Amino acid sequence: MADKGSRSSKLHHYTDFLPTNRKEMAAWGWSDLDILFVSGDAYIDHPAFGVPLLARFLVSHGFRVGILAQPDWRKPEALRVMGRPRLFAAVSAGAMDSMVNHYTAARKLRSNDAYTPGGRAGARPNRAVIAYTAAIKGAFKGLPVVIGGIEASLRRLAHFDYWTDQVRRSVLIDAKADLLLYGMAEKALLELAQRCAAGENPGQISDLPGSAVICVSPPEKCVEIPSYEDVSHEPDAFNRAYCLAVHEANPYCGQSVVQRHGSRWVLVNRPSLPLTQSELDNIYALPFSRRPHHSYTESIPAFQQIRFSITSHRGCCGGCAFCAIASHQGKIIQSRSPLSIVSEVSTIAQDLEFRGTITDVGGPTANMYGMRCGHPKARKSCRREGCLFPEPCRHLVVDDRAAVSLLEKVRLLPAVQHVFVASGVRLDLLERQPGYFGQLLKHHVGGLLKVAPETLSAKVAHIMRKPGPDSFTDFLARFRQQSRDLDKRQAVVPYMIAGHPGCTLEDMVDTALFLKENGLRVEQVQEFTPTPGTLATCMYHTGVDPETGQHVHVAKSPKERRLQKALLLWHVPENKNDVLQALQACGRQDVAARLLGGSPAIPGKPVLVAKRSARRSRKK
Ligand code: SF4
Repeated sequence: MADKGSRSSKLHHYTDFLPTNRKEMAAWGWSDLDILFVSGDAYIDHPAFGVPLLARFLVSHGFRVGILAQPDWRKPEALRVMGRPRLFAAVSAGAMDSMVNHYTAARKLRSNDAYTPGGRAGARPNRAVIAYTAAIKGAFKGLPVVIGGIEASLRRLAHFDYWTDQVRRSVLIDAKADLLLYGMAEKALLELAQRCAAGENPGQISDLPGSAVICVSPPEKCVEIPSYEDVSHEPDAFNRAYCLAVHEANPYCGQSVVQRHGSRWVLVNRPSLPLTQSELDNIYALPFSRRPHHSYTESIPAFQQIRFSITSHRGCCGGCAFCAIASHQGKIIQSRSPLSIVSEVSTIAQDLEFRGTITDVGGPTANMYGMRCGHPKARKSCRREGCLFPEPCRHLVVDDRAAVSLLEKVRLLPAVQHVFVASGVRLDLLERQPGYFGQLLKHHVGGLLKVAPETLSAKVAHIMRKPGPDSFTDFLARFRQQSRDLDKRQAVVPYMIAGHPGCTLEDMVDTALFLKENGLRVEQVQEFTPTPGTLATCMYHTGVDPETGQHVHVAKSPKERRLQKALLLWHVPENKNDVLQALQACGRQDVAARLLGGSPAIPGKPVLVAKRSARRSRKK
């Protein structure tokens, strides 16, 4: 059974899931596979998870695909349970980079894993893409291995690795894989499978959009970025490589990027084109069983989180410095049709455990549904990393009617009693979306609304490429006023980051004072983790903002990171000494009484408790 105690999950057939062993292959009538997926996550047959989604997509195009979820990479026989696939093996570390999955921002080992039955840690290796590729190469001599998913995607070029504090080579080289697919990969994977079925070898395919491959010489037309050897020793070269690569990220006009690694070259082709609405709808209409594989006997935390949620769109045009979404999903918003979403809700409603609550209708940023670039010509030549910073682009269509109408349609379905928006929302967009804002507060907050100012310092917000504190202040006032008008007691959950490049103790003191004086409390703080491939990680590694050339303060010592965090949690009694130390370190003892004395008494404003969930699976 998929989830202990699940009534609906007891009614399964082997063909409800893609095969994971010979017996299930036989139920599908298959004696062998075309493509074998190996994943670092448990197998949950749900469109929120990349490997099942891609595997179902390939099956719908006639390929025979099996999934090995969390196999024991130390035992070749564990990789051979479904035999040697005809075309290639496809490897993903899972929904998260395996190092992020395993270690905290303080580089301490985590004791849990939301993507594993029972939530237990240890079911996947460190650097899972490398370990699984080696295991497959050992189990099937000469079988081509294609790597993908967030871990491979964001490590496709030489990158800074926080866990070793070093610049590492492209994961394509370290894994000795044949081809790398980056981004959401449906188009690239389908074309790859079709070309392999026609006799091509993945390692020889050098012109596939959305892929990277190793070659012995660079193609004639491409952009060369500083070599691995240069970026590992010279911070300037590292930042230059980042800017050059980002400049080519437009799928319509970007060129291929090459980076020398010794005597070889890593060639990264331009990104795949975004999916059309009907292509996206077709993917979400595939026959997912929407349950964890029937062999699991324990609950999987990530499944519980997304079980009754809806992904309405992909992509994010925010361009926040610390976020890898644009680098993985792209900045172009790809929205499903209302019909497709309503149809998915109707499918959810048939689940015997559905109690009428849709827990989320969103994407990387909930209020970007239906947004688009209104200037087709500009879109095809645009080189901006996002569409919102420093000011929203004049071509960005922020019309909220599509989102308002979608929420209304879902709300009015007979089986639905509540619809919540749990994905984060962009505050600067809400200012221009009065209809969406009103509907959100009236019907979809569920007591708490997540917003992500991330900082309340104007200087740090600028470095993060986020709207500044004024935007948050305006939002808070409107939120409170409209909630009062609606006679609803609801609160905001402000997400904050400690230790982001550019943030000093003084900045954190200002943020803490703002929180206190506005009746806000943050219960859990995200410590900045320099994940591969982001602008903020460049700043963390080099101490310079690659786009402005300006020096940026970086809190690297554990002590400073701890003190920054303590300031955000000024109200926790155990932090008092750290708060006092922080104030002394930056010469702000003058505000000690303001920060630590008495609780804020702001008439009409409830004290808001803000929690940050350990992982925001949609976001990263
Ligand atoms: S032209 Fe403006 S709206 Fe269009 S993609 Fe570029 S930044 Fe975004």
